[in-house]
Amino acid sequence: MISNILEKLKTGNITPEEYVEKTFERIKKVEEKVNAFVTLRNKEEVIKEVEEKVKSGGRLAGSLIAIKDAISTKGIRTTCSSLMLSDYVPPYDATVIEKLKKEGAVIIGKTNMDEFAMGSTTETSYFGPTRNPWDIDRTPGGSSGGSAAALAAGYVELALGSDTGGSIRAPAAFTATFGLKPSYGTVSRYGLIAYANSLEQIGPMAKNAEDLGILYSIISGEDWRDATTIKFSLEKEPYEIPVKGLRIGVLSDIMEMSDKVVKGSIENMINKFSSEGATIDYTKLGYAEYALPAYYIIAMSEASSNLARYDGVRYGFSKYNQGSWVEVYSKNRGEGFGKEVKRRILLGSFILSAGYYEQFYIRALKVRRLIKSNLDQLFSKYDVLLSPTMPILPPRLGEVINDPVKMYAMDINTVIANLSAIPALSMPAGFYNNLPIGVQMMGRYLSDSLLIGISIYMEKVTNLYDLTAPT
Ligand code: GLN
Repeated sequence: MISNILEKLKTGNITPEEYVEKTFERIKKVEEKVNAFVTLRNKEEVIKEVEEKVKSGGRLAGSLIAIKDAISTKGIRTTCSSLMLSDYVPPYDATVIEKLKKEGAVIIGKTNMDEFAMGSTTETSYFGPTRNPWDIDRTPGGSSGGSAAALAAGYVELALGSDTGGSIRAPAAFTATFGLKPSYGTVSRYGLIAYANSLEQIGPMAKNAEDLGILYSIISGEDWRDATTIKFSLEKEPYEIPVKGLRIGVLSDIMEMSDKVVKGSIENMINKFSSEGATIDYTKLGYAEYALPAYYIIAMSEASSNLARYDGVRYGFSKYNQGSWVEVYSKNRGEGFGKEVKRRILLGSFILSAGYYEQFYIRALKVRRLIKSNLDQLFSKYDVLLSPTMPILPPRLGEVINDPVKMYAMDINTVIANLSAIPALSMPAGFYNNLPIGVQMMGRYLSDSLLIGISIYMEKVTNLYDLTAPT
């Protein structure tokens, strides 16, 4: 828990040097297997910064944090795990980074991810896959797999990820950690390298719900540099909320689409909620089978437009500069982007082309609207909607990466919250054969604090928090 480290640093129980040394030792021991970082900062620099921050204070004075490599960090290389940006050093900080620094947090490094956040396993990274600290042969989920692995491997207590269709929650579920996809507009996207703007949010990742809450309360808030942020600030840090009297709807159409062992673990969790006094009802989302295609149509369309800027002239990888502009552009993009990213640019451009726009894109927007209105109705009856975070156990490396449709199908439960702007939190529900299983709670728009508060209560009931993989 970060409060323990903060207390020790404050009282001198541990010196900044000891804290950083211990962290780097742990990294040295397992990072070769895990590959959570794309860029790890220089140890001496980090020690110096922790020393300074402990003195200057703040709510995270001197705490180390791992940052997904899609979030811009001034003076620290930010690659989005792509060859296209492999030598890009941002001249500015993302808003969330500014806020963290103001509270005394110290970035230890930038974490591995799927290239441009496109994927669910952290295998599409140009820098090689990240492996799950709970089982080195398996994926930690993605795309924020490096951040989740850094937590589960015991490197750090705090991390940031981004979530366009599940990229915070999938890795949280697969690594027995906590992750929140915040309500759309509550966390600034300024400085986040864009994949699909209408869907994504930066969000907190941690090993327990209290730390998740502290991080969320720091990074959220209106930002004039991101016009999609809303007038919002947390009145106080999220606090524990007992579940007695809470009305929970279990999404049975989504449960049905999950593996038996996953379902079993979620049922176990439902019983725990029930014995703590929550009322449980089985209900349906409706249109569940259309959520995934709608998500991928919208995400790919937005991606094809966002990624047009990497032309090898103004931005990004520019190995080729001879010949016509079209040639230079095609060659740089052809080599600078990986296979999955190119697939999405091609599909996205196709979807948005004349004739197909109405057939695919407009239809997907209609599905998005229908899902949103179903959810509005459900939230008039329930405070929280419960489901597995992921329908399957963490796949083995290579198992889904060569079958894109199989990989996309993993996101069935998570994309719903992105399509409808609502908050969704994943917390550990249990293990099967030492493999973590996560439960997802979705709440009304702006009920992020409620979700965090419930998980602060429930983590004590399950005793599944502050877990480190025995790697
Ligand atoms: N797996 C989903 C995708 O590839 C979600 C990724 C994300 O949330 N960034 O689009």
